[in-house]
Amino acid sequence: MNEIYERLKEAAGNFSVDQKEIAPHLREWRSKYEGHSDLLLRPSTTAQLSAILRICHESGTAIVPQGGNTGLVGGQIPGNGEVLLSLSRMNKIRAVDPTGMTVTAEAGVILADLQKAADERGLLFPLSLSSEGSCTIGGNISTNAGGNHVLRYGMTRALVLGLEVVLADGTVLDMLKSLHKDNTGYDLKQLFIGAEGTLGVIAAATLKLYPRPLQMVTALAATPSPGAGQKLLGHMQSRTGGLLSSFELVSRPALELVLKHIPNTRDPMGASPWYVLMEVSGGAGDTLDALTLAALEDAMGDGIASDVLVAQSTAQARELWRLRENISEAQKLEGASIKHDISVPVASIPAFIEQATAVVTNRFPGSRPITFGHMGDGNLHFNFSGPKGQDKEFLAHWDEMQLAVHDIVKDYQGSISAEHGIGVMKRDILPRYKSSEELDAMRALKKALDPKNILNPGKTIPAVRRL
Ligand code: FAD
Ligand code: ZN
Repeated sequence: MNEIYERLKEAAGNFSVDQKEIAPHLREWRSKYEGHSDLLLRPSTTAQLSAILRICHESGTAIVPQGGNTGLVGGQIPGNGEVLLSLSRMNKIRAVDPTGMTVTAEAGVILADLQKAADERGLLFPLSLSSEGSCTIGGNISTNAGGNHVLRYGMTRALVLGLEVVLADGTVLDMLKSLHKDNTGYDLKQLFIGAEGTLGVIAAATLKLYPRPLQMVTALAATPSPGAGQKLLGHMQSRTGGLLSSFELVSRPALELVLKHIPNTRDPMGASPWYVLMEVSGGAGDTLDALTLAALEDAMGDGIASDVLVAQSTAQARELWRLRENISEAQKLEGASIKHDISVPVASIPAFIEQATAVVTNRFPGSRPITFGHMGDGNLHFNFSGPKGQDKEFLAHWDEMQLAVHDIVKDYQGSISAEHGIGVMKRDILPRYKSSEELDAMRALKKALDPKNILNPGKTIPAVRRL
C-alpha cells in the first residue's frame, strides 16, 4: 500500500496525509456520516487526475471524489478508509463565450463564483442552491442538483452541454462541446450526470448561460393551505405569462425556526399557516412589479392569498430569500431532524402533505413537521424535528418514519430522492422503490465503466441480495 500511496502522491502533485487537514473532508454537513482516510489527493489538472485513476485502477485502490462536501446523503465521505480525491484545486473558469452564451469551468469551481462570472458579463447561470457558497460545479453535476430555479431552467442536467470526464481506468473522455444539437449516437455525458461519482470523475463542464433578466421581482404571499398555494401557482403562471422563476412553499413552523435561530431576521408579515416565496423575472421593464402586484391582489380577492408583500429593493428581496435559504441551517440548530427529499406529481402536493403529515404525527407523537420546498417542481423537503431534548429517542425512529413516508410517496408515483441523490443514505432502501430490472441495468453500467469497483464503491448502487 505504501508504494501505491507514494505513486498516487507523485501523480497528484498536491496531497496531504495530515489528519488535521483531512478531518474537515471526512464529516458531512449534518455530521450524519463520518469517514476516515489516510490520503487526500488534490490534483490541479486533468492529466494529474487521469494519472491518479490509472494507478487506482491498476492497483485496485478505491477512491472517493469530493467537491464542496455539501452533499446530504454521504456520497462524498470515504466510509471505508478510501483515498479521498478533492477536486478543489481544479477551479479554473476556462472560458466564457458571451455570444454562444456558454461557460467552460473546471469541476472544483464554486457555484457562487460561476454565478458571479456570468453576472459580470451581464449573463445568468441560473442554478441556485442554499449551499452555493461552498458546493462545486462537479458536485452539482454529479448530484444533478435542483434548487430554486428549476421551475424555469430545469435541473443541472438541463444546463450541461458538454463534459470532460476521466473514467475509472484513467481514460479521458473529452466531450467538452458547446453544441445544443448533437445526435451522434449515445449521449454519453448524460451517464455521468447524477451518477454521484460512481461511473467517472468529472473534470470540467461546458454549461449553458442565459440572458440576465432585466427585472426580477421577489414577492411573498401568505396562503391558507397547500391547496390554495397550488392554485396560486397556476394563477401566477398564467397572469405573468410564464415569467415565474421560483415558487417556494414555506410552512409557518419552518419560518419560526429561522426567526428563532438565525440572527438579523424578522417576521415579514402576520402569521399564516403557509407562505409562498416567489420570483417573477423577465424583460418587461418597470411594469413587472406592477404586473406581479396586480396578479397578487386578484389572488387575494379569490381567497388563495391572504396577504402579500412585493420586495421594494434588492436588499428587501435578499432579506426574504435569507428566510427561505436558512431553513435547513435553522432546523439543524433546533436539534435532531428526520428529513425526506421527495417529489410527487405537482398536482398531488396538497394531498400528499395532508396524508403524510397525519400519518407521521399520529405514529410518532411529538414530531414537529417542518415542511418547505420547491412547490413548483413537486419537490418537498418533508422534514420533521423531534421533541425538545429527546434527540436520541427521536432519531431511533429514522428507519420507521422514512419507510412510512416513502411508501406514501410510492403510492403517489413519486420519488424518494428528488434532488439530493442516493449516496449511502438511501442505497439500501432503493430496491423497494426502483424495479430490479432498473437496478440490474445500473449494475451493468457500473460493471462496464468501473469493472474493478474502485470509484466511490458502496455508494448509490444497492448490493444484490441473495435470499
Ligand atoms: P460533494 O458533497 O462533495 O459530493 C456530492 C457527490 O458528488 C458525491 O457522491 C461525490 O462523490 C460526487 N462528486 C463530487 N464532485 C465530483 C466530481 N468532480 N466528479 C465525480 N463525482 C463527484 N441540493 C439540491 O439539489 N438542491 C438544493 O436546494 C440543495 N440545498 C442545500 C442546502 C444546504 C444548506 C446544503 C448543505 C446542501 C444542499 N443541497 C442541495 C445538497 C448539495 O449542496 C448538492 O448536492 C451539491 O450539488 C453538492 O455539491 P458538492 O460540490 O458539495 O459535492
Ligand atoms: Zn431543495
